[in-house]
Amino acid sequence: MSRRFDRLTPYTPGEQPVDKPYVKLNTNESPFPPSDKAIAAAKAELERLHLYPDPTCGKLRGALAQRYGVTPDRVMVGNGSDEVLSFAFMAYGDAGVAYPDITYGFYSVFADLYGLDAKVIPLREDFSVNVEDYKGLGRTIFIANPNAPTGLCLTLAEIEEIVTANPDNVVVVDEAYVDFGGESAVVLTDKYQNLLVTGTFSKSRSMAGARLGFGIACPSLIQDLETLRYSTNPYNVNRMTLAAGWGQLADEETTRQNCQTVMDNRAYTTEKLTEMGFDVIPSCANFVFATCPKIEGKALYLKLKEAGILVRHFDTERLKEYNRITIGSRAQMDALLTAIKTILEA
Ligand code: PMP
Repeated sequence: MSRRFDRLTPYTPGEQPVDKPYVKLNTNESPFPPSDKAIAAAKAELERLHLYPDPTCGKLRGALAQRYGVTPDRVMVGNGSDEVLSFAFMAYGDAGVAYPDITYGFYSVFADLYGLDAKVIPLREDFSVNVEDYKGLGRTIFIANPNAPTGLCLTLAEIEEIVTANPDNVVVVDEAYVDFGGESAVVLTDKYQNLLVTGTFSKSRSMAGARLGFGIACPSLIQDLETLRYSTNPYNVNRMTLAAGWGQLADEETTRQNCQTVMDNRAYTTEKLTEMGFDVIPSCANFVFATCPKIEGKALYLKLKEAGILVRHFDTERLKEYNRITIGSRAQMDALLTAIKTILEA
């Protein structure tokens, strides 16, 4: 191993255990399968697997461009939005990077991987982002909006404030969860040359297993990312995933309905957890971040696991009393709520 990677602590993905079937509420996947159109399009590609995929990802970029009301030269696609974010850290890291102390855990891994100087900015006590902390930093800024694992979001006006306050630096807005109630900043990418918005098919579009993400920005930022993509792996998105992507985009109405169901289930779960004495942070995402004074965060996580329900627990000082609970189907949420009731009564 090269010396510079000696002390790298890799990202820890959520558990994917195989010892028994679980109600999986730990990695913010969609409870719904992909659209029939996505499945049919991916299947049709199977017999063409002897051929490389289109390195320009032309058809998918066209479909994304149409969906988001931009031109295709403003879109790039990646193997999950993780890859797009990785390219963004690689491309714009020399200025130093900045992100909140509590946010998507991969940011600090990318910063370490690329040897970048990182300014980690504490969230307020209530886990909200103080926009003033992100003005004139002289660094590349990464903001997950909605944030993870809190689910809190900034308004479009607040995002614009950050973008305008850093005209000479790139601001990356990670919108993995935006379809569950946030406001997308894609509309600002026409106006600002320093804004990159990333998105994913893993959450609202039910394709976590396919690994598909995208970035939208002005053409020159997209060109930078494309240079890195072609210098890393021009065939980064496989044929089946490309096809599933445009199949899924042809069914945005199903995506919209699925998001609505998740939002309804989120309101339901929040209400029931609150009734049981939980403090639930208001979420704009497909998960809630919740704590209960009656039981320690880790104990609840372990007891739920024993009962066959997986949620995500983070063992850090500021987060250890909380659990992040993915919002799934109503049946999954009822299973969670029943298990919690039993645990609290015991
Ligand atoms: N951003 C955030 C905030 C996330 O939580 C995730 C999912 N773990 C990602 C990006 C990456 O998602 P994907 O690579 O599946 O697109």
